[in-house]
Amino acid sequence: MQTTLRINGARLLKSIDELAQIGALERGGVCRLAFTAADKAGREYVESHMRSLGLQVRVDGIGNLMGIRAGREQGPIVACGSHSDTVATGGRFDGSVGVLAGLEAMETLNLAQVTTRRPLAVIDFVNEEGARFMPDMMGSLFVRGDLKIVEARGIAGIDGIRLGEDLDRFGFPGGDDFGKDPIGCYLELHIEQGPVLEQEKINIGVVEGVQGIRWIAFTLLGATAHAGATPIHLRHDAGYVAGEIVRCARRLSLEIEGQRATVGSMSFSPNLVNVVPEEARLTVDLRNPDAARLQQAEDELNRFVNQTAAAERVLVEREKRVDVPPVVFDRSMVDAVDVAVQAFGYSSMRMISGAGHDAQIMAKVCPTAMVFVPSRGGISHNIHEYTAPEDIERGANVLLHTLLALAGE
Ligand SMILES: [Zn+2]
Repeated sequence: MQTTLRINGARLLKSIDELAQIGALERGGVCRLAFTAADKAGREYVESHMRSLGLQVRVDGIGNLMGIRAGREQGPIVACGSHSDTVATGGRFDGSVGVLAGLEAMETLNLAQVTTRRPLAVIDFVNEEGARFMPDMMGSLFVRGDLKIVEARGIAGIDGIRLGEDLDRFGFPGGDDFGKDPIGCYLELHIEQGPVLEQEKINIGVVEGVQGIRWIAFTLLGATAHAGATPIHLRHDAGYVAGEIVRCARRLSLEIEGQRATVGSMSFSPNLVNVVPEEARLTVDLRNPDAARLQQAEDELNRFVNQTAAAERVLVEREKRVDVPPVVFDRSMVDAVDVAVQAFGYSSMRMISGAGHDAQIMAKVCPTAMVFVPSRGGISHNIHEYTAPEDIERGANVLLHTLLALAGE
């Protein structure tokens, strides 16, 4: 692979900076919640950028944007992209880097007068974050056909506004998909949003898949009692059982390969200093890239909770709130990313994404993979989110050359 063709890092940073002005927050960072005026303005920026590069722009029924660069032949599109919406106090890199690096790759090819064999495209998916309208990754779910427009229109946002009203205001008619432009494969460049690449001093993360996620909410029902007057063996202490579950989560994380288990929220009732809690509510977040190990973790957790609660004579109610299976990316796509990384001589490691991305939805539509670049301090969904210019440039070069290899010169 030749690496003489390189993206223009300064030009890419300039466009990241321009997009970050839209919905900019006073203390830094951005707020472009999906389907708000700021989000619309951000998408208009991306669309006009697509048009200025001579891309054919398609907008589907829910507002996903695709800018297509024709190839010498017709046929399935080699697509890249990400999202331009943000959380309420988001950074300027989450999502934007993938969309704008894709456009920078197109500009680089335009200036070098390269026509690929297969068509290329950059996609800007709507509402990846799900911070205003659930579910997240809504745009890619729509592309995949797993969310119908009538269903989407009825969804109420955190501000009570129905998505249908916003779609009408945005002028998205609904109903159409990218149908006649089939997507042949999809590659997403994204910031890592975690601390691993920075800690390991590595340039590029070659992402092999996305962890499966399960959220289980437990309610433990014991009995209230005086903290001084009630002997331990006579208690039905819901708080004690909750604490043991926290220990169990750590043990599962250490004992099961690839497992992460977290108790992220807990509350006691009556929540008083000198009263044995009669009720405890807590959530367990289980993640593993391997479906069988994820199931093993849930089974062991449930067994432990049942035994511990029974011994304390505490009742257990459980509700599974999220169950997303792990995603394994296409081996040949992942290898194609690796080839581009090697050609540049960048340091890299194979890794699993800890966060959700449009790519995991697209993985059921077509061969898919992701490229990660480091996040300083692992901070994301935060106004202090930062990725160094050289890292963005390296990621965009890997994106460009992987696209070139997939589309054929
Ligand atoms: Zn993102």
